[in-house]
Amino acid sequence: MINLRDLTIKELKGFCEEIGEKPFRAKQIFSWIYKGAESFDEMTDLSKALREKLKEHAYIGKLDIIRVQHSKTDGTRKYLLGLEDGNMIESVFMKYKYGNSICVSSQAGCRMGCKFCASGLDGLKRDLTPGEIAGQILTIEKDTGEKINHIVVMGTGEPFDNYANLKKFLINVNDKEGLNLSMRNITVSTCGLIPRIQDFSKEMKQVNLAISLHSADSETRESMMPVNRSYPVDDLLAACREYTEETGRRITFEYALVKGKTDTKEQIDLLASKLKGMLCHVNLIPLNEVKETGLAGSNRKRAAEIAAYLETRGIPATVRRELGADIDAACGQLRLGEQEKNK
Ligand code: SF4
Repeated sequence: MINLRDLTIKELKGFCEEIGEKPFRAKQIFSWIYKGAESFDEMTDLSKALREKLKEHAYIGKLDIIRVQHSKTDGTRKYLLGLEDGNMIESVFMKYKYGNSICVSSQAGCRMGCKFCASGLDGLKRDLTPGEIAGQILTIEKDTGEKINHIVVMGTGEPFDNYANLKKFLINVNDKEGLNLSMRNITVSTCGLIPRIQDFSKEMKQVNLAISLHSADSETRESMMPVNRSYPVDDLLAACREYTEETGRRITFEYALVKGKTDTKEQIDLLASKLKGMLCHVNLIPLNEVKETGLAGSNRKRAAEIAAYLETRGIPATVRRELGADIDAACGQLRLGEQEKNK
C-alpha cells in the first residue's frame, strides 16, 4: 500500500496510470490531500468506483496528536505527534504579527549530536517521508482551524540529512494544488552539511536558508557540534558566501548564546570579523536551559548588548523573540519527557 501523501503531483500521475486511471485524476486527488482529506471517501468529486479502487492500492497516512502544550501567554502550541510506526516527533505552531508559522521536524531523532540539543540525545530513529513532514502542517491546520503562512524546517532532525524527502516536501507545499505557499515563506535550517548547501543553492534558490552556527571559532564549535569535524567552520562560511553569491539571498546565522562560552567578547569579535561583508543576518538565541545538556544560556540583556555591538560592526542582528516560554520550548524536550514517562 502506498501513502499518497508522500507523492508529488508528477508521481501521483504515474500512480494513476499504473492503476489504469487518467493522469488528470492526480490533480484532483492531490488537491484533496492538501485540503486535509484523510480518507478517500471525503473526495466527493471522485466516483465511488474510483474511491474503492484507490482504497485497494493506497492510503492517506495520518499523524496522531499525542499531546499538545498551549502557551497561556502568546498562543504558541507545541505538538507531540505520533507516526504510524510508533515513533514520535514534535512540531510547534507560533503566532506572529505577520501570520502563523510552524516549525516542523524532518527526522525522528537526529544523528548530528549537537550538545545543546535534546533532540539528538537518543540518536536518529529514521528519516521522515515527504508526507510525514507535510502531515505536521495538515494536522495542525486542522487542529487549530488556522491557515499556516510560514514554515521553518527547524524542528527535530537535520533536514539536509534527509535531502531527497525534504525537496519533495518543498515541491508539494509550494504546488498551486498543494498548500500554494511561496518558497520565500519557507526557511530551512542546517547545522552545515556543505555539499547539500551547494545543491540547495542551485535547486531551491527561492527558499530561505538558515545555518546553525553558534560559534565562529572551530574549537568552540566542535565542542558543541560534532559536525564541525567533517565540515569545519571556515569551510562552512566559505560555502555560505558562495551561496549568497549564487542566489543573491541573505543567509541567516542562528547563534545560541551559551554563557561564558559563545557570548564572550572574543567570540563575538571573531564572529563579526568572519561575517564581514557577507549578505547575512545573525539571529541571537538566548539558550533555553535543557537540563540534560548542562549548558546555561546568557540572559536577554546580554543578548541585546551583543546585537547592538554586532550592528556597530556592520552585521545586522536581532534577538529571537521568546515564544512559548511557559512551555517546554527547546526542541526535543516534549518527546524526551514522553519517553521518560513510558520507561
Ligand atoms: S540542533 Fe538540529 S542538527 Fe543539532 S542535534 Fe539538534 S536537531 Fe540535530
